[in-house]
Amino acid sequence: MDKVITRFAPSPTGFLHVGGVRTALYAWLWARKNKQNKGKFILRIEDTDKKREVAGSVEHIIKSLQWLGLDWDEGQDIGGAHAPYKQSERVDIYKKYADILVEKGLAYGDPYTPEEINSFRAKAEEEKKPFLYRKHRPKNPPYWDGTIPLRLKTSPKIYKWHDVVRGELEAGEEAVDDFILIKSDGYPTYNFAHIIDDLLMHVTHIFRADEFISSTPNFLALYEALEITRPEFVTLPPILGEAGGKKLGKRDGAKDIMDYEKEGYLPEAMFNFLALIGWNPGKGDNREVLTKEEIIESFNLEHIQKAGAKFNVEKLDWLNKEHIKLLPPEDVENKILEWLPENMRESAIAPKLVPVILERISKWSDVKTMAEVGELDFFFQAPKMEFSSDNFKEKLLYKDATPEKIANNLKLAVKALENLPEENFTKEDVKNSLMLVADALESRGQLLHPVRFALSGKDKSPDPFIIASIIGKNETISRLQKAI
Ligand code: GLU
Repeated sequence: MDKVITRFAPSPTGFLHVGGVRTALYAWLWARKNKQNKGKFILRIEDTDKKREVAGSVEHIIKSLQWLGLDWDEGQDIGGAHAPYKQSERVDIYKKYADILVEKGLAYGDPYTPEEINSFRAKAEEEKKPFLYRKHRPKNPPYWDGTIPLRLKTSPKIYKWHDVVRGELEAGEEAVDDFILIKSDGYPTYNFAHIIDDLLMHVTHIFRADEFISSTPNFLALYEALEITRPEFVTLPPILGEAGGKKLGKRDGAKDIMDYEKEGYLPEAMFNFLALIGWNPGKGDNREVLTKEEIIESFNLEHIQKAGAKFNVEKLDWLNKEHIKLLPPEDVENKILEWLPENMRESAIAPKLVPVILERISKWSDVKTMAEVGELDFFFQAPKMEFSSDNFKEKLLYKDATPEKIANNLKLAVKALENLPEENFTKEDVKNSLMLVADALESRGQLLHPVRFALSGKDKSPDPFIIASIIGKNETISRLQKAI
């Protein structure tokens, strides 16, 4: 392979959702994988559909790519040999190619009003036939002065082409039509502009979503008309919603990639997760937790799958947790503290909570949620032990409980803990001395459940030994006594 040049060509029509970012990621990976072949990745902004443009999108797209750690060698904001990289600033370039096609007799002015075209379409629908503009192509089209649409003159034929992922594809004659190259507002269509840009920017591989397959015969007709060699097509599998089957669209919860940043996902986990939606490192390689470098190293086009791939948040959470484990411990501690509400963060016990919290989160915002739903409150103040004679057995998860029995067991616990040093009231020491008491009872639960409840006010919580070591000897004994 001589060289590899890929591009990401988003339209600034809003935020970048996971599908868009995955396309960017795969194109970027292929360029980086081919560094030795002068691999290059370009960021081009396709903003010729002015009606659909959303202000601020370009900046947002750039921020999203940067968050994920994708950089570009040429393109928006950084320039390069083929600047400008915004299509709306390249109108003169497209005009030049439009003129070439007009001169060759392969493009012509469209004389019809939108109403006339709509009536042709309605008629075709009535006759249950596909609407084809070329069936209405004017015999003597008007001179194209730039104020009316310019269309490509196509010849109906069967197109066959090779797609790196999908293999051999084919479409019938009705898939080719005289599509618009330049609109009446003077801007080119996507169909026209991207082909000129890919040519001039020497793009070798087009990574894009499968919604472009149906337009490919038209693209092929244009490559032919311009007598140019096309780049390779690399069509990515659709991303399916959690339930499977249906494509994940903005409407069914395809979120802005930056929402994941706000929720405290690690970019390296998102990178890993997106890379695995529709690609795997290959047979016999079952690694799932991969660093950026490992993904670049093992990325290839052969293992991009054809079939749709599910977007599975549970997997994202799992991967995120795995990537948290790869971080230096002091970074983890700082992050957890940063996400705690201020009053908790400033307390002396906050650093001791880190391991307890770490065990229970998969992303940083879970820290905030734990605090908000009261899962950390009992570390800071004695719980209200709310139970009644009706539900206390159930609360204490201990079926043979009687108040007397429980009080008695808790008294034994207090006695055992009183012998421990106040200064170094460790989890291990607490555990050892409480276990000694528990093991002498009919069942350990008769002591451990009430202790848990006395310390946390909850029937589910971190293990009571950790709670005791964090709140300290005096507070532990005071809570046990209150329960007694
Ligand atoms: N501008 C197109 C879009 O945002 C890009 C398609 C392509 O990559 O060629 O959908």
